[in-house]
Amino acid sequence: MGMNRPTFLRSLCLNSLAVVMQRTVKLTLPSDEVLVKTIKFYNEVCNEVLKVAFEARTHSKSRVHRLTYRGIRQKYPSLQSSMVQCLRDQACDMLKREKLERLPQKKPYSSIRYNQRIFKPYLQKGIVSLSTIEGRVKIAVSIPRCYEQYIDWQVKSATLSYDVRLQKLRLHLVVKKETPQKLERNSVLGVDSGILNRAVLSNNVFFASNHIRAVKGSYQFLRQTLQALGTRSAKRLLRKRSGREKRFQADVNHRIAKLVVAQPFNVIALEKLEVKKVKKNGKRFNRKLGNWAWRQLQRHVEYKAEALGKTVVYVNPAYTSKTCSRCGQIGTRKGLVFKCKHCGFQLNADLNAARNIALRGKLLLEQASVNEPNAPLQHASQPKAEATCKPPLSRGGS
Ligand SMILES: [Zn+2]
Repeated sequence: MGMNRPTFLRSLCLNSLAVVMQRTVKLTLPSDEVLVKTIKFYNEVCNEVLKVAFEARTHSKSRVHRLTYRGIRQKYPSLQSSMVQCLRDQACDMLKREKLERLPQKKPYSSIRYNQRIFKPYLQKGIVSLSTIEGRVKIAVSIPRCYEQYIDWQVKSATLSYDVRLQKLRLHLVVKKETPQKLERNSVLGVDSGILNRAVLSNNVFFASNHIRAVKGSYQFLRQTLQALGTRSAKRLLRKRSGREKRFQADVNHRIAKLVVAQPFNVIALEKLEVKKVKKNGKRFNRKLGNWAWRQLQRHVEYKAEALGKTVVYVNPAYTSKTCSRCGQIGTRKGLVFKCKHCGFQLNADLNAARNIALRGKLLLEQASVNEPNAPLQHASQPKAEATCKPPLSRGGS
């Protein structure tokens, strides 16, 4: 082990305690009359239980059980005992939240709870099994691509609700998995967002956004046309379109994030996004790109990195696009090119910024390891090879 090994290698894996990661998988079920009836029925009975418990001034599950279970079972024999338990638990939790100060009521189609006994997910097969007032039903579900990564996670709980306006059944699953051991924080990847590129990585990988911008532009044209029309059907179409646009954005971000965390780096440095910085891009670009999309990408990266044991650090974005990533002096950015007067370095401006973000990430880790002087020394692994594609406009190494 060399003496000149950077100090950030000493950073401690403080987060290596067994922590559980939790995500919500949102599925839409095909329309099913029995399920809709079950939701309505469950909520009606739940309201009865709420009333009895509220009058008895209790939210204790065992007390409410004693007060209501037998009566409910006799009155509604079609309701499975596990389902009675579920609605009793939900009623108790609602009363607890209200501290028994007022009587909460369930709306006819608000979400109902499923516990392990009346709900079985077979996500790998694309099937879920649910209890209804007419017995158990197996339902085929299509799992959106962004949730495919969770099909082997453990399902912790499930809720079913019905959206009356859209006439859609929604099944939300909370899934969990133990957080993997944190990987050694020995290599840092910087990620920048550009105008022409949704993301630029410090290892010379570019994710162009011309396709995204083309699609967004056409959505925008349609939106303006529909808004100008202002009729009811135009509004309905607008709602439908904006949903589709959001799903398109989310899908793009999901795919980019997947590729970002797959790069051979254990730490990913992102810029702490400030509204100020985005303002400089100009109104037109802001309207076109909107910065929520970039924040969403950052969130996706964070989630996926956590699942792989990688670390995400946020760095100050000030001057990342104006600083020379080779000598650290302030240079100039003209359009797509960054130029440094001091050392003659010239590089694609977004790539230069991404490299600065990586450098700041390293600096942050160094500072963290100085602040933890007792941290045990980690073994340095072999330096990882950089991606091979050539940076555009690169002159001189970095
Ligand atoms: Zn320079």
